[in-house]
Amino acid sequence: MYQSSEPPEPAEIGPALIAWHTKSGRHDLPWQHDRTPYRVWISEIMLQQTQVSTVIPYFERFMQRFPDVIALADAPIDEVLHLWTGLGYYARARNLHSAAKRIRDEFNGQFPTEFEAVTSLPGIGRSTAGAILSLSLDERHAILDGNVKRVLARVFGVEGSPAERRVEQALWQWAEACTPSQESAVYTQAIMDLGATVCTRSRPACDACPLATGCIARQSGRQHELPTPKARKPRALRRSDQCWMLLAQNSDGAVFLERRPERGIWGGLWCPPEFKTESACLAYAQHHFRLKRDQTLNPLESVKHVFTHFDLEIFPLWMQGCEPTAVMESPQSLWYNARHPEGVARVGLPAPVKELLDRLTAGHV
Ligand code: SF4
Repeated sequence: MYQSSEPPEPAEIGPALIAWHTKSGRHDLPWQHDRTPYRVWISEIMLQQTQVSTVIPYFERFMQRFPDVIALADAPIDEVLHLWTGLGYYARARNLHSAAKRIRDEFNGQFPTEFEAVTSLPGIGRSTAGAILSLSLDERHAILDGNVKRVLARVFGVEGSPAERRVEQALWQWAEACTPSQESAVYTQAIMDLGATVCTRSRPACDACPLATGCIARQSGRQHELPTPKARKPRALRRSDQCWMLLAQNSDGAVFLERRPERGIWGGLWCPPEFKTESACLAYAQHHFRLKRDQTLNPLESVKHVFTHFDLEIFPLWMQGCEPTAVMESPQSLWYNARHPEGVARVGLPAPVKELLDRLTAGHV
């Protein structure tokens, strides 16, 4: 076996990966058929921070409802967030919607094909733009998503965390050097697939890898040290937060929800009224839902939600039999019936709120 600690020739990477992909790559993903820039764009955004198996049903529902960029641009944001419910990182959906409106208004409804124009759209950085143009138009553009960073750091023995600018720049140089001028779409799909299925973070299958011969990490037995992990905050320093949510339910079973501000956590999604303290929640229920002073709210089991930077524990307080007329619906509020959500409203719900509403509907309280 080749035993040099010299990095391999970048020109060898493309042909090796293209040959491997023909035999062993993924070919049946829904966004691999009819590869328009629009479809590839939606799939690339959904796949950020999210597994392929999770994305597939979301992608199919999204395409059914928004088959082209105009359909997406013309839809209300609530409907876009509704189809995103459970996928997380909702800024992605808000960016998709504003980018679609810009494409409709500034690019005649055609997804732009100039690299600079693509990167000018909200939510599309250098790597995503490269992936869209390469995969849909077979143009030569390098990409550097998380999977590709891992493959390149290992193959070329790049030390340091990819979160550091100088390391990321070094990886971009390798990415540019490896990207072939022919069959760019196949190469791009191949290096993404290799990172997702062979050169995985914790269990790289080096014996099945087409880049094994020259890979520095493999030669030096350092697969688990490269790429260098980002220094993590110790768990004890993670911020924990808590809040109380008022589940005000009317006699039809509908729950009162409010739209959250555009900016901040769960921007634009719908939640029950939220409070910093239990007493504030109680006072609100008395004032807005005519809860009598001698009545109490029914505490339900709490729900924990883990964000990237902090943990949130939600304490739900349940009030049944609210007068629907006690609080009128407005553009920022509605009565949401989880039993018949389609008949009432197609809105986006954060995952823990959906869980709470599902529990109420199923009577698991
Ligand atoms: S040989 Fe192993 S570490 Fe190197 S690229 Fe292939 S799977 Fe990754």
